[in-house]
Parts: sequence; C-alpha cells; structure tokens
Amino acid sequence: MARFTDSVCKLCRREGRKLFLKGTRCESDKCSLKKRNYAPGMHGQRRGKLSEYGTRLREKQKLRRFYGVMQRQFDRYFDIASRAKESTGEALLSLMERRLDNVVYRLGWASSRSNARQLIAHGHIFMRAQRCTIPSLILRAGDVVTVRNHETSLKAIRNGLAENDRRPVPAFLERTNNESEPPTGVMPRNPGRSDVDPNLEDLREQLIIELCSR
Ligand code: SF4
Repeated sequence: MARFTDSVCKLCRREGRKLFLKGTRCESDKCSLKKRNYAPGMHGQRRGKLSEYGTRLREKQKLRRFYGVMQRQFDRYFDIASRAKESTGEALLSLMERRLDNVVYRLGWASSRSNARQLIAHGHIFMRAQRCTIPSLILRAGDVVTVRNHETSLKAIRNGLAENDRRPVPAFLERTNNESEPPTGVMPRNPGRSDVDPNLEDLREQLIIELCSR
C-alpha cells in the first residue's frame, strides 16, 4: 500500500491552510503553519499568482490530502462519483466521508485520520461483525462499526474518546458509548454535502470536477 512518508505538515504548508493531519498538535502553538506560513522548499516563500489550472489543482490536492487518499484511489473515486445519480461533487465528498478511517475519526475514536488508519490496520475495529483491517473500505447506509471486545482495543478507543470529546459527532453518524459494552457507531444514512467535515466546508468541488473531467 503506497503512503505518504514525508512530514505531513509540509502538505498544510503547500496548501497554505490547516489540513488537521496531526490530531491535537494542530490546535496547539506547535502547528508548523504558525511558525512557517509559506510553502516548503527552496522557493516556498516566493508564492506567485496561481494560474487557472493551478487553482484547480490545489483544490484537488487539498481534498485528497485532507482525507489521506493517494492519486490512484482518488481517480477511482472520481470515476464512481461521475457515474452516480447525485451531482459528481456531492458523490465524491460522500465517498470520502464514508471511508472507514474517516468514520472512525469522526466518531471521535481517533485523534486524526492517520491515527484511525492505524487503529484499523492493527485490528481494533470490527465491521459487519467481522474484524476489518482495510481503512479505505466504503460504508453503506445501515452499517455498524464497533470496537474489538479486548482490553487493549477498548483502552485505545476510550483514550481517543476522552481526548476528542469536544469534537461533535456528525449528523449522519450515531455513537453509543456504554461503559458495559464496546463503543459502537452506526451510519443510518449516507452523508450529504452538509455533512462534510466543517474544516473543509469552503472546498470548491466544482473546480475539482473541471480539472478531472478534462
Ligand atoms: Fe497541519 Fe496539523 Fe502540522 Fe499544523 S500541526 S501544519 S494543521 S498537520
């Protein structure tokens, strides 16, 4: 599985905005954007005016990097979204939101999407009553996600819940957190445009469609 191994803060600096890739650090004074609010690299401080193509490209990269999706997988999502009944932009964002790693993050079980991917890869998460180690799995309406009934898994998720208790659960998810049972999340319906992570509300998906439809 291909993955990005360089410093993720460089991705935020390239996009010139917070992408919230490092959990609680992103909210603190340690955020790299506070110290170096310019693009990485030798010519990073010489940011010129973007061309039309550049503006569209940046919008697509912002979306991809926010959700931690590699280019090849993004192309696949775009292909699926362009054949969907709803608008391509809404379908694309819905696919991103329905990824298992995103659902684990938005349920407040993990402090970032990469932390969620790690929890899934380490076998802490069950889906459709089976252990699931695929972070990119797309949920369907009615799917139930739960935590492995094991001390290590429960501890990891309860720590996550305590750390992220200020983050609200989105309307397309339901979370149960009973002390006597493993934490559970349900997705009763597919997410729409209004359910997209508030940190990405200003995304102009139309630009991405214009770029990818060429
Ligand atoms: Fe981005 Fe978080 Fe790094 Fe700040 S701390 S630059 S928001 S990943």
